[in-house]
Amino acid sequence: MNSIKEFMACDKPDGYAEKLLSELRKANERLNAFNNITEHLADGMPFSVKDNICVKGVETTASSKILKGYIPAFNATAVQRMLDNGFSFLGKTNMDEFGFGSFGINSENPARNPFDESYAAGGSSSGAAVATSILKHHVAIAESTGGSISAPAAFCGVVGFTPTYGAISRYGLIDYANSLDKIGIMARSASDIKYVFGILNGPDAKDTTSLDIKYKSENKKSIILIDQLIKNIDKDVESNFMGFVDRIEGMGYVIKHRSMPFIDKAIPSYYIIAMAEASTNLAKYTGFKYGFKNEDFTSNYNKFFTDARSAFGTEAKRRIVLGTFVRSASVKDRYYSQALKLRALLLQELNKLLSEGFILSPTMPIKVPKLEDVKKLSALENYKMDVMTIPPNLCGLPHISFPYAYKNGMPLAAQLTTSHGNDNAALDFVQEWERSFKYKFKYNIGELR
Ligand code: GLN
Repeated sequence: MNSIKEFMACDKPDGYAEKLLSELRKANERLNAFNNITEHLADGMPFSVKDNICVKGVETTASSKILKGYIPAFNATAVQRMLDNGFSFLGKTNMDEFGFGSFGINSENPARNPFDESYAAGGSSSGAAVATSILKHHVAIAESTGGSISAPAAFCGVVGFTPTYGAISRYGLIDYANSLDKIGIMARSASDIKYVFGILNGPDAKDTTSLDIKYKSENKKSIILIDQLIKNIDKDVESNFMGFVDRIEGMGYVIKHRSMPFIDKAIPSYYIIAMAEASTNLAKYTGFKYGFKNEDFTSNYNKFFTDARSAFGTEAKRRIVLGTFVRSASVKDRYYSQALKLRALLLQELNKLLSEGFILSPTMPIKVPKLEDVKKLSALENYKMDVMTIPPNLCGLPHISFPYAYKNGMPLAAQLTTSHGNDNAALDFVQEWERSFKYKFKYNIGELR
């Protein structure tokens, strides 16, 4: 029996919602999972929403100062579909500003890892992963552009699913990079995700990129390991991962090692395309229409916009500058156009591998890091951490991150990629794995006794 259906069907003890909310508020003071928590929780299964997805009447900031005070007058399609199917809105989750980051540190109050608060929660959907890791009955609606669901899911020990590009309507999502953004789902099990994916996927007249296809579950019982991705990573991560691969082999899968051309070009291509699109998307925050308002209309034109746009954080400013540069007329052919060509080549190569089986890798090249250590990374060192998560994201391929072991109290996670539209195969694979794997969580807020 699916745990969502069970939760929806059972009677809750008196005061259940109040108790859950008060325990959650207490935990949130330490963990910063939520930017805001609802005052009243209805009876359905609680769901959280990443703070870059619009919820009617609820402040939505994408964790950016520039959007402080922005209250959408409408629900994102994904949110509306959750409400229409009996889920109850719980709150907006913390994230890296506009989705820019891999560790949650590009938020004013970074979320903390629930296993140990001095460790990073991952990003950019940091709060969504923490919420999933601390709440017993809950699902998170999150978003990934280049790995923002996989990375935090891996560090917080939950399952994070990023579907085929276009599977879930983006209507009501605050765009980071339109050709890359995907709304996805986090939960404590693949079967919960499968249930929610069934509700959320499907065409939407309000998003012309949304797909109208049937999602498959085709499994060739082969696992592809891309050699370049498994080398040059943390030695412990590599050896633990190879131990996990042995267990997958024991489940009847054939393991195939492959080398993949152009794989080293995925990170540069992604960051060129993502920044080019981000810089155009951020142009609309001028201090007039949304959120943060510069009330000083007496200053001159340049000063007015400079003051308003100084509300962006450092990483957002970096992306505006670099993104504007790579698409400028004089260098466009050297950067932006090349990146688009490489993206097409990478998809071709990935599709070749996916015709043989599923692609498996560790989700992150390092163990869960300390918050203080990731704060010391340069921008480039940061971007390199997305080495596993960028290829499927750049090509719009469905992928899922799931824990496979715990070492020194921290989760270790793997990521499985399948071909376009074969989303259910990824979910079924993890469900198969879950039969022999027990999750560990430090908190179980809202547990029914
Ligand atoms: N770390 C990547 C970036 O900063 C991915 C973020 C995301 O998926 N939103 O672009």
